[in-house]
Amino acid sequence: MSVIQHVIEKIKHMDPDQKEFHQAAEEVLETLEPTAERHPEFVKAGIYERIVEPERAVLFRVPWVDDKGNVKVNRGFRVQFNNAIGPFKGGIRLHPSVNLNIIKFLGFEQIFKNALTTLPMGGGKGGSDFDPKGKSDAEMMRFCQAFMRELFRHIGPEIDVPAGDIGVGAREIGYMYGYYKKIRNEHTGVLTGKGLEYGGSLIRPEATGYGTVYFASEMLATRGMDFKNKIVAVSGSGNVAQFAIEKVNQMGGRVITVCDSTATVVDEKGIDAEKCCYIQELKNTYRGRIKEYADKYNTVCFDGQNVWDVIRSQGIKVDIALPCATQNELNSEHASALVKNGCICVAEGANMPSTPEAVKIFQSNNILYGPGKAANAGGVATSGLEMSQNSMKLSWTKEEVDNRLLIIMKSIHNACLNAAEAYGKKGDYVAGANIAGFVKVAKAMLAYGVV
Ligand code: NDP
Repeated sequence: MSVIQHVIEKIKHMDPDQKEFHQAAEEVLETLEPTAERHPEFVKAGIYERIVEPERAVLFRVPWVDDKGNVKVNRGFRVQFNNAIGPFKGGIRLHPSVNLNIIKFLGFEQIFKNALTTLPMGGGKGGSDFDPKGKSDAEMMRFCQAFMRELFRHIGPEIDVPAGDIGVGAREIGYMYGYYKKIRNEHTGVLTGKGLEYGGSLIRPEATGYGTVYFASEMLATRGMDFKNKIVAVSGSGNVAQFAIEKVNQMGGRVITVCDSTATVVDEKGIDAEKCCYIQELKNTYRGRIKEYADKYNTVCFDGQNVWDVIRSQGIKVDIALPCATQNELNSEHASALVKNGCICVAEGANMPSTPEAVKIFQSNNILYGPGKAANAGGVATSGLEMSQNSMKLSWTKEEVDNRLLIIMKSIHNACLNAAEAYGKKGDYVAGANIAGFVKVAKAMLAYGVV
């Protein structure tokens, strides 16, 4: 049994319930076999065994009071996975599905994603099983403050720099950062995704969605294609989806789908700039349901189905798929339907949205497939740019940040292709992203000795 297979077996044996973490780790480790052959020094130094163990994982109680005066208790997590190349960095997710397994999967992915950005950032992730749906602003504030009342001990601008993720947008970052500033009595940019008035970066809200489309565009260019007149399926309707739609429109494509966790809307005419603004208002200000889009624009709406269910059941043709909702939203049946319906390119705005079986179908059908850790790295890359601006105490223009984001996404794309080719996996973006990210982190770990 290879060292890598041994590590996979070991993590499954140690934590049998951590399915998503196993899935993420196995997907990365299996593509790293060529690195173990090429770098016996990594094997000797136990890099593969060490990289699957977080530096530390903190689990804490989050007690808060709802609007009726009832005491509620949630669980908070921060997994500081690897800081070999820079401070821990990764978002905070607020969703009922959050547990240690989910945060470990996300933190593990973040190590390689952050390494790919070329910026000095380690990998981490945090969150809580708190459900933001149906909470008032006052409840959100009290929860975010309670969460930060413990988290502040573990983070810092040179230690660990959290950001947003599912359920954490501008409002929540404001509450969390405001409370950190108050109890630490310092104004260092410890969170990213901050408002522009207090240290945020232009283009950060747009960055993950824009970056995903830039990455897809680079993949398409390798086959002499682009977004013009292409039919695009986007899933989700949150931060990543909203700005992926905006960028596809700017590049001349037509987005025909959008969803939330309760329904999918299909708008064959295309979700143009005006409709996209409506989605932003609906989701970010009124916090409504996507069904309201269908009512307003008189389009079809499928209750209880996600975008990929609908594409499959209705036989809808799409050229490009951008899954931007959540993990494992797109399974093998969805992937087969996409292939059958003419899809040529899949770029993941979400983290691990495609199941391993779906990924195999994309790859065996020669679909351009960009895994999340490369395709959605624009968000954390721009968080890195926010950290740089905070350190320098200055703000770059929108054009400057967007231009840097574009350059970073191009360089991630090239790094994937170069690493894939160098390790005998030409054209394989999955292997390329994993190997490029891993080798950088592994070399740093090697330099430190056994720590
Ligand atoms: P948001 O909370 O802003 O939006 C998430 C969207 O996905 C919502 O529309 C939500 O619907 C929908 N959704 C959640 N679960 C399901 C489900 N089971 N079926 C269908 N739709 C679902 O999160 P983000 O846009 O920030 O994050 C989306 C994905 O992108 C996540 O995987 C995240 O980890 C990843 N990501 C985000 C980055 C960022 O900068 N924000 C950076 C890199 C990756 P509802 O409103 O009903 O919950």
